Amino acid sequence: MKKEDKIEISDKKIKRPLKKGLREFDDLRDAISSMEEHNRNFYFKPVLGYGVKLDASTLNKITRIECNCSDFLQNHGDFMKSMEIRFVSKHTATKLAELPLHPIILLLLRNKAKHGKERYVMLSENEPIILGFVSFVKLNWINVYHYDNKRDVAIRFSFNPFENKWSYGKLPPDGKTVENKIMTLLQQTFLQAERF
Ligand SMILES: [Zn+2]
Repeated sequence: MKKEDKIEISDKKIKRPLKKGLREFDDLRDAISSMEEHNRNFYFKPVLGYGVKLDASTLNKITRIECNCSDFLQNHGDFMKSMEIRFVSKHTATKLAELPLHPIILLLLRNKAKHGKERYVMLSENEPIILGFVSFVKLNWINVYHYDNKRDVAIRFSFNPFENKWSYGKLPPDGKTVENKIMTLLQQTFLQAERF
């Protein structure tokens, strides 16, 4: 990174405490608003057709899924226009997770069915690796969705960037690489460690 490309750090950010070299935010909104360079397009908005071609029968099933909850009633129009997972209700996520979608999209839907809303960040498009934030304020555990192209398997782990710890002490296959990518992303965006 060239010196002039360095991210400006706001005073608000500088006042944040450091933990193991990372600046700890307790609110994701603060963190994003202090990323002068990187906050635009920060969130990844996954769509049902990610990585697959939706056939007519699948599209037909998607169209027919209905729910009575307020989340569905409010967001269904936006969902039908965009097919974005963020507009799916918890209940319809369960039904959508039975369709032939990309393994990593199925994982996102299953987690949504259990735990509700989540915000996503695409960490790596090649594998892919997607980070999931279930809350603006609980940032200690981040969901990490990882798809292994070679084995055609998608897995979800939780990662604590402050403790540098995976949930249950398990590392995914190639865990060190994934961990390094996560740490780099966090350092380059909202957890910039030091002012230069
Ligand atoms: Zn619903």
